[in-house]
Amino acid sequence: MAASVASKLQEVRQRVDAAAREAGRTPSTVTLIAVSKGQPDGRLAEAVSAGYRVFGENRVQEAQKHWLDRRREIGDLELHLIGPLQTNKVHEAVALFDVIQTVDRPKLVDALLRAFEGLGVARQCFVQVNTGAEAHKAGVLPENADGFVEFCRNSGLPIIGLMCIPPVDEAPAPHFALLSEMARRNGLGALSMGMSRDFETAIALGATHIRVGTEIFGERVLLGEVRD
Ligand SMILES: *Cc1c(COP(=O)(O)O)cnc(C)c1O
Repeated sequence: MAASVASKLQEVRQRVDAAAREAGRTPSTVTLIAVSKGQPDGRLAEAVSAGYRVFGENRVQEAQKHWLDRRREIGDLELHLIGPLQTNKVHEAVALFDVIQTVDRPKLVDALLRAFEGLGVARQCFVQVNTGAEAHKAGVLPENADGFVEFCRNSGLPIIGLMCIPPVDEAPAPHFALLSEMARRNGLGALSMGMSRDFETAIALGATHIRVGTEIFGERVLLGEVRD
């Protein structure tokens, strides 16, 4: 029988804590974001029943299906948007998510600020950096990151950290180290990096937010079915 979501959550949290201690860090400085994209609703329900509250999604529409109703019922839910955000989805995203991790262009900054004003809220944001300079991937290029962070700050967008998704075919450590150095020199405290296969490496290099899907929930089953 497959391990329950609750026991996988506990197991991953224990690995997170061990990796943090190994790196001389306090385990509570690492937030484990359970990435629920592409998962059947029953698996989310299990995590929620087990008392888990911090989740990540990469598409607005799918996230609404998973979380809109629960959002109303569960006061302390913390939802992170970790996928690319189109400007025409910004209002809905700001209404649903607590944290937007994928800010990467001026047009999006403007749209977010307008949505904050319209909805009377503010959301913590991360700047996504395309550390591998991959053509198909979202995020600002490394050489533009400092300038873009400054642009966000000057615009009044609350940037708390940087986020990256390293190329799948490369060792992640150099990418994590690069992101960590960028955050340091820009005075940003939060670092969202590390997924199922590499979160321990990310924690060793300073991750404050790791995004773990399959290692908690098992293989995704609905991938590609729901599109924004
Ligand atoms: C899907 C996804 C994850 C989780 O990936 P796993 O390999 O399942 O842990 C993390 N970050 C982002 C941006 C994702 O899209």
